[in-house]
Amino acid sequence: MCNAHQTPTTNIQAKPDPETLYRRQFLKYAGATSMIAAGGAIASCATNAETGRSQFIALSPSEESLAQAAAQSWTDVKRQTPTSNDPRYTGRLRNIGSRISQGAGRADQTWDYAVFDEDTKNAFVLPGNRVGFYKGMMDFTDNDDQIAAIMGHEVGHVTGAHAQERYSQMMLGQLAIAGGTILAGSQLSKRCRKETSQRAYNDCMNSAGRNTQYLQAALGMGFQLGVVLPYGRRQELESDQLGAKYMAKAGYDPYQAVRLWEKMGAESSASRGPEFLSTHPTPERRAQDLSDYITAQQKLGSRGFEQLDIPADA
Ligand SMILES: [Zn+2]
Repeated sequence: MCNAHQTPTTNIQAKPDPETLYRRQFLKYAGATSMIAAGGAIASCATNAETGRSQFIALSPSEESLAQAAAQSWTDVKRQTPTSNDPRYTGRLRNIGSRISQGAGRADQTWDYAVFDEDTKNAFVLPGNRVGFYKGMMDFTDNDDQIAAIMGHEVGHVTGAHAQERYSQMMLGQLAIAGGTILAGSQLSKRCRKETSQRAYNDCMNSAGRNTQYLQAALGMGFQLGVVLPYGRRQELESDQLGAKYMAKAGYDPYQAVRLWEKMGAESSASRGPEFLSTHPTPERRAQDLSDYITAQQKLGSRGFEQLDIPADA
């Protein structure tokens, strides 16, 4: 499935814009660079240790560079939305987060938690281990185990490298040019120095400036990756199962994840469903899938939760 993501590169190359010399040159360059990116992509189809699935991760970004972009988004969202200082929320979330990160074998990493003081039933995770819960989401749950279910699911998106995967897919998709720019940046400014006339040099540097804007637009997607853009069905299923695994390892009752999905399903048929569902579809089906998975894994005793069980058509 990794190969499928390389197709857009060819499309970009096939549609050069003949408008101006600059544009032709840039597209040629971006196309060539995208080919380099695609070449790297073949080498970057790596198996994720946590999910056992082969994923396409582009040359860029690394987990750290994406985390850097997300750091700015995290600062922005915390500035724009009031955060709670109530320890009944913040302390509770930190404790649950700490247990789940241990269950995920990532207790040695730094995790950042925030409770947003809004009655929204939603939660999200940003690259760099930043987990945001809205107060309304915590109030909606019946117990710590259900909060742990959401926490486990969000941590599953991190360990499954889902944001990197989405970013990589987009880079070779509609943002192939911006993606190429990341790789091309330094070479482009080097090229400007070769221009013989002042005017050509200025044009060249102007285009380099525009390329920087593409780059910024691409990196500015940190928040979108965490909040706006929906994860794929397979990624959601992976996160559900990883979440159940982390719950079990942390001593929570994984079946509370099933209860939570059922509760959300019931709520979604009411007039105003939980926002969590807008990016996490079909709760009833997921509750059933998750219930089947947990039952099967618990039968395996100590060997349970070692492997995911995702349907081939997901
Ligand atoms: Zn999710």
